[in-house]
Amino acid sequence: MNTCPFGETTLEIDLNALAHNYRYLKSHLDEGTKMMGVVKAFAYGSDSTAIAKELVNLGVGYLAVAYPYEGEVLRDAGIQTPILVLHPLPPTFQTITARCMEPAIYSRTMLESFIAFCEEKNFKAYPIHIKLNTGLNRLGFIDTDIDYISETVAKSEAVTVKSIFSHLAASEDLEEKRFTEKQLKFFKESSERLIENLGYTPLRHTLNTSGVINYPEAQYDMVRTGIGLYGFGNIPETDKKLRPVGTLKTVISQIHKVKKGESIGYNRGHIADRDMRSATLPLGHADGMARIYGNGNGWVTINGKRAPILGNTCMDMIMVDVTDIGCKEGDVVTIFGENPRANELAEGAGTISYELITSVSQRIKRVICRK
Ligand SMILES: *Cc1c(COP(=O)(O)O)cnc(C)c1O
Repeated sequence: MNTCPFGETTLEIDLNALAHNYRYLKSHLDEGTKMMGVVKAFAYGSDSTAIAKELVNLGVGYLAVAYPYEGEVLRDAGIQTPILVLHPLPPTFQTITARCMEPAIYSRTMLESFIAFCEEKNFKAYPIHIKLNTGLNRLGFIDTDIDYISETVAKSEAVTVKSIFSHLAASEDLEEKRFTEKQLKFFKESSERLIENLGYTPLRHTLNTSGVINYPEAQYDMVRTGIGLYGFGNIPETDKKLRPVGTLKTVISQIHKVKKGESIGYNRGHIADRDMRSATLPLGHADGMARIYGNGNGWVTINGKRAPILGNTCMDMIMVDVTDIGCKEGDVVTIFGENPRANELAEGAGTISYELITSVSQRIKRVICRK
């Protein structure tokens, strides 16, 4: 197909690819292991409502967001599945509880202030999720907090521990296997001690996508998958098994003939070293095509051929080299999708799929499809 069906920059979101990826990740798990669908950051830059609804249909029993606002959007869309808020702060407790979301509790301050909040509201057994820091050193309690946690929780009827979890620092990097195994051992010991102290058994979960692939023996009761659902496995073998959910397309707005010695774009970022043809495309750094992709670090695909980005990316446009590509104004351009995959484009610019796909700005039209 040579013309863009939507006539403007569009992110196609393929729910069949999502279903495929869900089943692939599920195939690494025991039958009873639950999956939490991580839909933070607009479902990794796509459409959190459409993705969350499909995940719930597929059988996901839990959703995760980073911030409460992200969960509110899902509740507004009628989604009733439990939602874990990975990164709450005390000023958001009202929103979290009003919308039946469940906070990750990662510090003494958070635990005490959330209990006080729940007591004030006369809540009984409000579900909380205890986050343990096992080596990432980002959010979480440390081992010397375990007894404190159980004692503090036992003193109040306002909350109940629904799950205990941790997050791996390097699950995709097998050169860090020993470090990861230490994290897993620490999680096992700390969670066992906490369970013993509590006198009841919350769910446990610690694997993200690469954890599911590389450490399925540590799946416990649930896993938290994000990037894999969207089609990226962090290693080529897994990438081959997954299908990208998002395809970012645009069109050629204008083609210029540029003579040797002339320049293209702001600050004369590209100087033509031969007579050439450039194509101007309607997406720029405000759409997620960051400046790092400029000056040939990034490229797009036009009629099956690579067109490198020329000079600096502008806010709303980029110019690409089409000197050797048969194409005309109005032709469709693929930024990422099957070819190139977002991880390839990202790696060319020294970044990762996560950053590229979550950067697709909200002004870009989303179209939900089943390919
Ligand atoms: C984002 C996130 C995940 C999902 O990780 P992926 O690598 O995308 O699968 C899981 N757990 C936590 C705590 C996260 O912040």
